Amino acid sequence: MTTTLYGLSTLDSDLQDRFFDVLFEEDGVVDALKPLVLFDGLPLAERWHENLGIAPENHNELWTQLADAVLVLLDHQSQESTDCRWAYMTPIVNSGKLHLQNEEQFREFTEYPFYEDQRKVRPTIRATEMQFGSGVMNEGYSVPKKEWSKQFWNECKKRTECFAPPPDKPTASYDLPRTLAEIRSVWSDLADHFSDTDEFTHVQPKRDASFGFCFYALALTQEGLASSGKLLTAKLALRMLAELYITFSYLISVGDRKLWDVYRAYGAGQAKLTFLKLEEILENQPGYLNKESVEALANEDMYMDFQDINLGNWANIDLRKMSQVAGCKDVYDAYYSWPSSYAHGQWCAVRDVVFTTCHNPLHRLHRIPRAAPRYEDGAEEDLVLLLNKILELLNGIYPGFERRAELMSTNSAQC
Ligand SMILES: [Zn+2]
Repeated sequence: MTTTLYGLSTLDSDLQDRFFDVLFEEDGVVDALKPLVLFDGLPLAERWHENLGIAPENHNELWTQLADAVLVLLDHQSQESTDCRWAYMTPIVNSGKLHLQNEEQFREFTEYPFYEDQRKVRPTIRATEMQFGSGVMNEGYSVPKKEWSKQFWNECKKRTECFAPPPDKPTASYDLPRTLAEIRSVWSDLADHFSDTDEFTHVQPKRDASFGFCFYALALTQEGLASSGKLLTAKLALRMLAELYITFSYLISVGDRKLWDVYRAYGAGQAKLTFLKLEEILENQPGYLNKESVEALANEDMYMDFQDINLGNWANIDLRKMSQVAGCKDVYDAYYSWPSSYAHGQWCAVRDVVFTTCHNPLHRLHRIPRAAPRYEDGAEEDLVLLLNKILELLNGIYPGFERRAELMSTNSAQC
């Protein structure tokens, strides 16, 4: 019915004879089709074996030959794929099951690929095959045809190995020890700036938060860079830096002193909530939580019995809106959204880090685990950029801090 291995097996035997006679008149056909003998489930296997011989002891060369052929067909729009799809449709057109609209279309089909502009003809053929290719078969034909197709891929999978591309070796693009020393020295300069500008001993929510954001950003940057800027956690550090920057920008741009109090009180409330959970709910205290220090944090500004616990976001506005108010939606888009996929373990992040595509064409581009997690994208420049943007904000409200962090290059270390 159609020009397929299964379709051939449904023809009358005299038609099959004629098909084989014509097919094997051409030179090189035996070599080209030899890999067919590899398949146990090949329709009309005996007839093929009469013409192609039996599978040799060493199969490897034939599997490779088949893989090369399949490779060019995996792209369903390649020239070779289009040829196959044309061949598949030709008997359907010739038998009248598909009526072409006019003579022009008929000639495009029958004289393919020599009639008309092929840039127009090839997409037409592909579209026709997609639309009508499987629709003209009855079940008695299509079910066993699909069965053979399934068996073909199953045999390919069972009898050939996966091939994982070798991972790129991550190399730090900067001098790690010198860069970390640089970050530590920014910390020390920032501590000096804190002392130089400190005048009071009462609670100063705006000042403490502003400097706190910067020190916290330095810690995050240091950790992101220490893992060569390429580990999964470097992306999480980026996301945290973006959130810090947006929060800091928002607090500054709203310009309401009370908002800094809200920010501080909300954090203290979180410590109280955690302390109460440790007291009342959690039977087994997690190792990372120290009850005494959480209690001390909760009670630091005000005895916690007098504190409210607010749930939800501290400012009752989500981070995206905060970034709009503060005019830094670009940072949200560039550094928060995508790293959030990694923080939440969403599919694309999981796929990216742990899976790769098997390069054996006979396996149809399925996913296989990597030999090791993918650590190829360097976040180092982005970490430093966000850190410096946060320091810039501080300098705007507590001037006199011009120091910025930089990545120390490996080249300059050798000079
Ligand atoms: Zn595979």
